[in-house]
Parts: sequence; structure tokens; C-alpha cells
Amino acid sequence: MDDNDQAPSELETLTLALLHSRGEVERLRERELLVSSLLGGLNAVLWAFDWEQQRVVYVSPAYEQIFGRSAALLLADYNEWLNSIYPDDMEYAARSLASVHELGSVEQREYRIIRGDGEVRWLSDKCFVSPSKLFGGQSLIVGIAEDITEKKALQSELHRLATRDVLTGASNRRHFFECAEVLFTEARSSGSPLSFLLLDIDDFKKINDGHGHQVGDRVLQRVAHCGAYVLRRDDLFGRIGGEEFAALFPNCDAEQARQVAERLQREVQRLQFANYGESFGVTISQGITMLGEGDVLDDLYARADAAMYQAKRQGKDCIVLG
Ligand code: GH3
Ligand code: MG
Ligand code: MG
Repeated sequence: MDDNDQAPSELETLTLALLHSRGEVERLRERELLVSSLLGGLNAVLWAFDWEQQRVVYVSPAYEQIFGRSAALLLADYNEWLNSIYPDDMEYAARSLASVHELGSVEQREYRIIRGDGEVRWLSDKCFVSPSKLFGGQSLIVGIAEDITEKKALQSELHRLATRDVLTGASNRRHFFECAEVLFTEARSSGSPLSFLLLDIDDFKKINDGHGHQVGDRVLQRVAHCGAYVLRRDDLFGRIGGEEFAALFPNCDAEQARQVAERLQREVQRLQFANYGESFGVTISQGITMLGEGDVLDDLYARADAAMYQAKRQGKDCIVLG
């Protein structure tokens, strides 16, 4: 047996083990750097939460960028996370986190946060209970919270474009009748009253011809504004044609609807427009009807329309019940 075949001494074994573990540490450090740089590039925060201790045990680097708050503070105190949630969403966020603990996972929970600089942002969280436990045996909830603020803004802009009339901001014709069908079905099944109103601007063509299309547009906007101002929160209001608007009043009989229509009539009469030093006003004709036995929505529409034309025949600037 030569020297090389001798068993390593204890010192040599220790040295080898040390070198090996140093290599491991290096590899782990490299791995951590790689993971951190990958996570840093995500517009989402990865987090881990010790449910029993109610303590955040990990957040990825994007936390500081998305929340605009210190990760160290969050790791020291879970209240930092609670305090960052938008007050209206606080209850939902706490309830949905508890349901992750109960159900094992939650596909998506959406809530708002207030960043350190006061900006409100929307997050979408996907979270589940991790199969691996902490060293103390506690269960860990892990999640990925994506910043969906831009997506939300786009969604609401698309919804606005699909449901609103661009010029006046009132519901567009399609949206008005879709919502009207829902309110109509509700009134039918509950037996509660429902009234339908149609209004048409008087001599609008003369306004366009005399003052120009742009002034006509302004008239439409101001009349729509009067409608929004006079109607109650649950009423439906929409622009259903060029200078024609409609309203639906849930839980409202024809007499109550007439009172709203009279207020609207007065508001519109009060409007004043100026064009090259010339000032002018505008009036509207309105037709009202109430849900009756055996009606479908189209019957309401047709009766309100007939009442509105009757108002035109009676000399305009008036309300007729049909
Ligand atoms: P009446 O009192 O009988 O209702 O008469 P009117 O002149 O109001 O009704 P008419 O239906 O003859 O004219 C409506 C006009 O509305 C015709 C159309 O060019 C105009 N109009 C439709 N949409 C718009 C719009 O978006 N902007 C403007 N400025 N005008 C519009
Ligand atoms: Mg018309
Ligand atoms: Mg008209």
C-alpha cells in the first residue's frame, strides 16, 4: 500500500466537506440570484404566508416596486400588508385568504391596494396551501399577486365604449334595452310597478340648421345631463335615437313617473345656449306609460312612443300619459 492509498485523515475529511459545502453555498447563491432576477422581471409578487403565526415569511423583489413599500417592514409585521389594502376590499381580502386556508386553493381573488405613495392599484392573486410545511410544522399559504391595474382600466374602458353613447355618456340603445329587459322581468315576477318614458327634443332639426351640428351636439349633451340629474339611482336612462332618450322607472307608477318627467321638463326649459351672441332655449316632448297586465316590453315602448307623438301633436313642450 503506498501513501496515496492511505485513508484520509480527519482533517482532510473536514477540509473536503468544507470545500464541498462552500461549493454548495456558491451554487445556492448563484441559484438565488438567478431566481431573484427572474422574479424581479415579473409584474407580480410571489409571497408566502405562515397562516398559524399570521406572518409573511417571503415576498419576491417585485413587492417593493408594486406596493411602493418596504419588504423588510412587511416581513416584520403582517399589519403592513393589511394596511395596504383598499378599505372597501379589506373584508373580502381577509375572507378570501381564510378560504384559501379552508379550501386549499383560490384560483383568483381581485382586490385593490394603496401604494406607499397613495396610488391605488388592482391585484389579482392566485393562491394555495403549500404541500410542504415550515420547519415548525406550520402550514404555508403561497400566492402570486399580479398587478392588473392596466388590464382593469382597459376592461372598464371597453365596457364604457360598449354600453355608453359616446356623445352624451348616457346608456346606448342596445345597453338600455338589455337592462330594460332585466328590469321588466323583475317587475313582472315581483308584481311591482314599472313606468316607461320616452322624450324627444322639439324642433331639433331647426337647432342644427340654425346654429350648426356642433351646437346641436351640445344641446344633446345638456339634455342628457338633465336626465342624469333628475333620475334616481335605480332608474335607467339612455339615448335610444338621434335626439330621443328613454327612461325606465322601477317601482314607480305613472303618477310618480309624471312627477319626474315634470322636473325634467323644467330642467330642460331652464337651459340656455349661446351661439355668436344669439341665445336660445330648448324644449322636449315626453310620453309616459305604465306596465299593464299581459304587456311585453315592446308594448310599453310602443305606448310611450304613441304618447310622445300625441305630445308633439298637442303643440310640443308637454307630457302625455299613454
Ligand atoms: P320634432 O319637434 O317633431 O321632434 O322635430 P325635430 O326637428 O326634432 O325632429 P327630426 O326627426 O326632424 O330631426 C331630428 C334631427 O336630429 C335630424 C338629425 O340630423 C339630428 N341628429 C341626429 N343625431 C344627431 C347628433 O348626434 N348630433 C346632432 N347635432 N344632430 C343629430
Ligand atoms: Mg325624433
Ligand atoms: Mg325631435
